[in-house]
Amino acid sequence: MARYTGPVCRLCRRQGEKLFLKGPRCNTPKCAVAKRAAPPGQHAQSRQKISNYGLQLKEKQKLKRMYGVMEKQFRRYFKIASKSKGVTGKVLLQMLERRMDNVIFRLGLAVSHAQARQIVRHNFIYVNSRRVNIPSYPVDKGDAIELKAKDKSLPKFKENLELSKDRSVPAWLEFDPAALSAKVLRLPEKEDIPSTIQEQLVVELYSK
Ligand code: SF4
Repeated sequence: MARYTGPVCRLCRRQGEKLFLKGPRCNTPKCAVAKRAAPPGQHAQSRQKISNYGLQLKEKQKLKRMYGVMEKQFRRYFKIASKSKGVTGKVLLQMLERRMDNVIFRLGLAVSHAQARQIVRHNFIYVNSRRVNIPSYPVDKGDAIELKAKDKSLPKFKENLELSKDRSVPAWLEFDPAALSAKVLRLPEKEDIPSTIQEQLVVELYSK
């Protein structure tokens, strides 16, 4: 299935909540959810009753949209999580949160997941002095993340940090804004994710 390239605000309206896919605009009155919370579509408002399956599906879509992950890859994450020794839902969230593009977004070096993905793809990021240009690359405890020395002065990153200053860097990451470098202190926990996620619904959906 191809990546969704349509208007992302539509995804938030369908979800019925802000997914923060558009950067600074999400916190302004221009946000489509703030202006018009109803789901898109002519008859959407008449579709009010939602089944248990519908709720599970909605939660899965929310996670996929938040992290910009496609169905195939999401299923692969779930398969790995369900085979791991830990709690499936918790491991699934941890895998999503550890993605390189998500880390760049959490640090404030990008204003959205889509932009973070582009930054990683365009060879700006180094982990433990080795270039990483795979957005799904999973960071690990102790990893040192930095920008290429000559890119540190690019105004784009300063602008992004300024635009993201209201978002705090999660406790599992240590960030030095002057050096534009970060360290992974530990693996992320659910409490580190600044969104309400009912991962159990996703586990129920895939366990059928
Ligand atoms: Fe979602 Fe942001 Fe668009 Fe609001 S502005 S609907 S939060 S993507």
